[in-house]
Amino acid sequence: MTATIHIIGAGLAGLSAALKLTARGEHVIVHEATAFAGGRCRSYHDASIGMTIDNGNHLLLSGNRAALDYLREVGAEQRLIGPAAAEFQFIDLASRERWTLRFNDGRIPWWIFDPARRVQGTRAFDYAALARLLWPPAEKTVGDIIACKGTLYWRLVEPLLLAALNIDPPRGSAKLAAAVIRETLAAGGRACRPLIARDGLSATLIEPALSTLQQRGAEVRLEHQLRAIRFGTRRVDALDFGGETIALAEEDAVILAVPPYAAASLIRGLNVPTEFRAIVNAHFRIEPPADQPPILGVINGTVEWIFAFPGRLSVTISAGDRLIDTPREELAKTIWAEVASVTGLAAELPAWQIVRERRATFAATPAQDAKRPGAQTAWRNLLLAGDWTDTGLPATIEGAIRSGNRAAALFADRKAKPS
Ligand SMILES: Cc1cc2nc3c(=O)[nH]c(=O)nc-3n(C[C@H](O)[C@H](O)[C@H](O)COP(=O)(O)OP(=O)(O)OC[C@H]3O[C@@H](n4cnc5c(N)ncnc54)[C@H](O)[C@@H]3O)c2cc1C
Repeated sequence: MTATIHIIGAGLAGLSAALKLTARGEHVIVHEATAFAGGRCRSYHDASIGMTIDNGNHLLLSGNRAALDYLREVGAEQRLIGPAAAEFQFIDLASRERWTLRFNDGRIPWWIFDPARRVQGTRAFDYAALARLLWPPAEKTVGDIIACKGTLYWRLVEPLLLAALNIDPPRGSAKLAAAVIRETLAAGGRACRPLIARDGLSATLIEPALSTLQQRGAEVRLEHQLRAIRFGTRRVDALDFGGETIALAEEDAVILAVPPYAAASLIRGLNVPTEFRAIVNAHFRIEPPADQPPILGVINGTVEWIFAFPGRLSVTISAGDRLIDTPREELAKTIWAEVASVTGLAAELPAWQIVRERRATFAATPAQDAKRPGAQTAWRNLLLAGDWTDTGLPATIEGAIRSGNRAAALFADRKAKPS
């Protein structure tokens, strides 16, 4: 009889595992607790602004190789858009200076030596300090390794690491920061092109994956929450979904691709990250000015990044825990005042929505990073996946997809070499 692999959670980790396994002809059932797939990376219709929006603006970089492979596999790579070269426009709200950071394509960073390409107000020499961040010890913070001050820090290192790690950079894990820098800045401009989901996250990353899985005969069961795992001595015996219990046959397996707090409630004693950081997004229903770049970095503001979509401007604020209790209208007004001043649009507040994801990512500190488990567990037919497992990357789309790929590869290895 063919084995069935039960994947719990239809976020990007679960979907990527399902894609890899179905590509090998495996029989897969994905069980998702909510009524939709995508987890923390999805679109929904928002009644306040009368549009379909994403739960949060998500940025990919051209160096996110697993994410791009995933998109190619589901035929959706054309749905990511971005400039032909690695360019990022910035504005400093305090000084009103504007500049465009232009990385050169190759690995040798000659953009550092060109005042028209590097960060406004910096010298080539300033960038030497970044080399210290390439291979730091695991237990160190970014603040232990580099001085978190000065123009280069405020205008490049802080925005980059805040976006990638979703934590105030001085407290962030230097090891995770290093992984980001090695795979982006140090890999050259070819790896740094910013890419966004033109038609929304679900249309780009989720629906094409669901169609591919359906074509390959996989089943995706929504509103099917795993309530408990029945453990045997060295294997999982059954999955308890409340009204239904699924007994696992000898060759069946489980990939648990749920958030860390859900995994910890299902597997007693599992060590997982326990601290989180929020991300705040504000969406405004308004046509962006014709010359508005798709992504604009903002320095010295509450706003950090402004994303322009047809008929909408959206703002991202990482590590936004300080804003969680601010009254929504007050926050919308503060954010819009900055957006209006940057774009030249009228000061009157357009239709808006604020989305605050409290547990957007685990807190990327060295202590929390040390709590991330690998994909293998003590039970031979149970594997873990998710952006919070030990991927070596911060909690990102790329990390989530790599974790799913890894769990699928481990399953295949075990099948080839049964214990
Ligand atoms: C606002 C925001 C902005 C972000 N911006 C970026 C960005 O710019 N770039 C980037 O790379 N990353 C970004 N991220 C991070 C990225 O979204 C995540 O890393 C990624 O989506 C995590 O995927 P996952 O599959 O590991 O987890 P999840 O997406 O959390 O998926 C887990 C799934 O498991 C389901 N589940 C939970 N319990 C059960 C159960 N008992 N039974 C069945 N199903 C269950 C959940 O409903 C969910 O669908 C952002 C995240 C947020 C929230």
